[in-house]
Amino acid sequence: MAKVELSVEIISIPGDLIKTIYTACKTCYSAKLPYENYLSAPDNETMLSLIRKVIGSGHYSTIEHIQLTFAIQNVSRACTHQLVRHRHMSFSQKSQRYVKEKGEFDYITPKTIESNPELNKKFDDFMKNCSDFYQELIENGVLAEDARAILPNATASSIVASLNLRELIHLANLRLCTRAQLEIRTLVKAMADEVIKKEPWLKEYLVPKCVKIGYCDEDKTCGRMKTKSELLTKSDL
Ligand SMILES: Cc1cc2nc3c(=O)[nH]c(=O)nc-3n(C[C@H](O)[C@H](O)[C@H](O)COP(=O)(O)OP(=O)(O)OC[C@H]3O[C@@H](n4cnc5c(N)ncnc54)[C@H](O)[C@@H]3O)c2cc1C
Repeated sequence: MAKVELSVEIISIPGDLIKTIYTACKTCYSAKLPYENYLSAPDNETMLSLIRKVIGSGHYSTIEHIQLTFAIQNVSRACTHQLVRHRHMSFSQKSQRYVKEKGEFDYITPKTIESNPELNKKFDDFMKNCSDFYQELIENGVLAEDARAILPNATASSIVASLNLRELIHLANLRLCTRAQLEIRTLVKAMADEVIKKEPWLKEYLVPKCVKIGYCDEDKTCGRMKTKSELLTKSDL
């Protein structure tokens, strides 16, 4: 049984991402055929200037053509449960039915527990107890699909996740917000960083929603941005 750390790798991203989005954008406003637009695509900066304008005006279907796939390793089941709530994503997750946790299972310790030595020790002991009981169930012929009932939310999992660029931006807007739980925030930040490494121009879009909309719409604000009511003056009401 081991504490494990998150790792995220992008395993699929189109090489001609900018040109593909440009072709989609240009086709909306050009008399030329889409393939002619593709073949006559200008330099990156000119393409990006059109793309920024189109995205800025909320014409998001143009970025749905870009499909991305991530290998996400050593993430808790609590975190993947939050991730799979995003309905425009596709997932393939390590099964707790087909994969028996051999020996002892890996788990993720939340930072708030890890930072307290006493609680951290109790947490590790609790995981060990769960692991021992899981093994007992398996040794007594209980199927893995039923023995998993006692595995905690902290159990480590792996998941392959695919989504288009529009959904990635939406995911970042929601899950980079400080109101999101730290683990999923860290995961989505790692996904965004992987993309930004390859396409630095996307940095301005892979931001928390407050940066996108210019104010905080959460009840409990972290204070990074003004709330809507703070922005409105009495005369606006
Ligand atoms: C900080 C935070 C706290 C949360 N707390 C809770 C909680 O306590 N309980 C809980 O159950 N969930 C909670 N959630 C999950 C949340 O309610 C959403 O299920 C999750 O964030 C997915 O967001 P989404 O629906 O916008 O995104 P996606 O499923 O990724 O969809 C993207 C967008 O597509 C559109 N869309 C998708 N499906 C439909 C549809 N069927 N009809 C109309 N439009 C659609 C919407 O515009 C949506 O915003 C929380 C999320 C966050 C970020």
